[in-house]
Amino acid sequence: MSVTPHHPQVCGERATLPADLADAAQRFAPPGTTYPEDVERALRCTLEAHTLGDHHAFVLELPGPGTGAVWTRWTRGHTPAIVLVLPDCPADEPCCEYAGHPGAHTWQFPRAPFTPTGGTAADETREGDDPGVPPQECACQSLHGYA
Ligand SMILES: [Zn+2]
Ligand SMILES: [Zn+2]
Repeated sequence: MSVTPHHPQVCGERATLPADLADAAQRFAPPGTTYPEDVERALRCTLEAHTLGDHHAFVLELPGPGTGAVWTRWTRGHTPAIVLVLPDCPADEPCCEYAGHPGAHTWQFPRAPFTPTGGTAADETREGDDPGVPPQECACQSLHGYA
């Protein structure tokens, strides 16, 4: 593989998952296998920076291998209005995105901490939410252990 000529940037668009969609996300999993706190409601688009198309964010890992994960998508300036199950990206290296996602795979992004260059990180600090954890560290476990 040749050297990538540029460093892709994460989109990082933020949104909040409405409570009814958080409930809906859990209904994709068998009863009792997920907890409300498993649902990611502080959303950040994990796609490569894009100017077209909807933003996508990981919401909930479904139990079991090959089950995919619950995602949400939204149009810039709007509130997420849908949750859907998408299969995991089938890339050779673990990728936290869904199958068929546009742009770079998770592992192609720089390993640097997730710090939006817009300087808006500081005003979103919340209790129990470590702002230093990049979205790349999402639930990739389902891609380990089999190839
Ligand atoms: Zn986006
Ligand atoms: Zn991928």
